[in-house]
Amino acid sequence: MLMSDSTGDNKTTGQGPLPPFKSWRPRRTARPGTISKLWVGVGVVVLIAAVLITGLILLARRRPAKPVAVMQTPTDTTWRSRSFVVKSGEIMSTLLTRARVPESTATRIITALRYGKFNFRRMRPGDSLALMYRDNQLLRVLYHQSHERIYRLDLDSADCRVSMVYQLISRTPDLIQGHIENSLYQAMLELGEKPGLIADFADIFGWEIDFFSETRKNDSFTILVERKLADSSFIGYGPILAARYKGRIGDFYGFRFTDPDKHTDYYNAEAQSLRKTFLKSPLHFSRITSFFGMRYHPIRRIRCKHSGIDYAAPTGTPVSCVADGRVTFTGWKGGYGKLVEVAHANGFITRYGHLSRYGKGTKSGVHVTQGQTIGYVGSTGLSTGPHLHYEVSKFGTPTNPLRMKVPRAEPVKKAYLEQFRTLRDSLQQVMAQMAGAMRPPQPDQEQH
Ligand SMILES: [Zn+2]
Repeated sequence: MLMSDSTGDNKTTGQGPLPPFKSWRPRRTARPGTISKLWVGVGVVVLIAAVLITGLILLARRRPAKPVAVMQTPTDTTWRSRSFVVKSGEIMSTLLTRARVPESTATRIITALRYGKFNFRRMRPGDSLALMYRDNQLLRVLYHQSHERIYRLDLDSADCRVSMVYQLISRTPDLIQGHIENSLYQAMLELGEKPGLIADFADIFGWEIDFFSETRKNDSFTILVERKLADSSFIGYGPILAARYKGRIGDFYGFRFTDPDKHTDYYNAEAQSLRKTFLKSPLHFSRITSFFGMRYHPIRRIRCKHSGIDYAAPTGTPVSCVADGRVTFTGWKGGYGKLVEVAHANGFITRYGHLSRYGKGTKSGVHVTQGQTIGYVGSTGLSTGPHLHYEVSKFGTPTNPLRMKVPRAEPVKKAYLEQFRTLRDSLQQVMAQMAGAMRPPQPDQEQH
């Protein structure tokens, strides 16, 4: 028994630098007993010696001998892990099968989880399973049900222990600054930010700026936002606390303020609401970023031969109604192709042409709300390629949608103005301080 062990060990030792799988034992000095027909006697002696030496080494192992410890170190630290994200409709057993966990182990895991009061019905796509191996042996299973709730199973002994790990979610404020080269979307992606933040930012200024046609190269943006970290890894953003967009079109600030009545909104420095009765553009940035995901979307303004604005956009891009109103027309209308017409308060009418199809429930007579999808970009009617034709008229007279003066929503209540100003000043101070900390003194600025 010992014999065959020691020869096997010698083989692995002979392979040199290969990863030692189960071979932390074999620092053998004993040579394998080569049995020669002529030297049977000698062979037997060598075998006995080998047995003795092996026995001595086994004895030595019981003491905390140095060489053993040295050899164990590398295997101790080599944890290998594999991760799987739960797919739609997946249950624990199918997930474990996909992760190629042997059936008997899978049964142990499921039993232990059940014992640990794991709610199998709360498994959701996007949850994740991490299998951690040491020396090719599955020793630990982590199931992330959310960023905060993690189930941990240890399979190191005969039984299987389940514990819950609550991760500490920390929030750290961060200042994101950039400038536009081609588009806001691209600029933020290049800074490594996620589409969700871009959409949130664009939503704050969605009534002031048409990010598809009014941004210019070298316009700058600043965002004060909290980054949520779980165990020091980024898991998402908190709400934007303050934002600024400075460009050719103007210098805009937005401050998030929750008044004592628990009403939260974004206001400019003068405590006016950033919300208006009309959105600046029917192509609503947040809808588009969720529609296109991570891809850069080539939406831009193109010349319009008639009164209105044309946006070149891929077929299927959602079109949002710019203000609350009532649909007065849906159907084909000459050069407009498929058209939606909406009547709003104060004699305003908006038209959305060349649509590929209409929004769900969009038909003549229905009430629509600001931001609601009323159709999708297409190329119907007199159109050379997929684009949206958007026009506004007031009492029958065409109006430039980008120059409209439209009423704002309620400003900060008078009673809370002092509170708002205090918050605004502190946010501005934080932004200035963080910007100063980020930007080392720039001597080239003095050259002008
Ligand atoms: Zn047009």
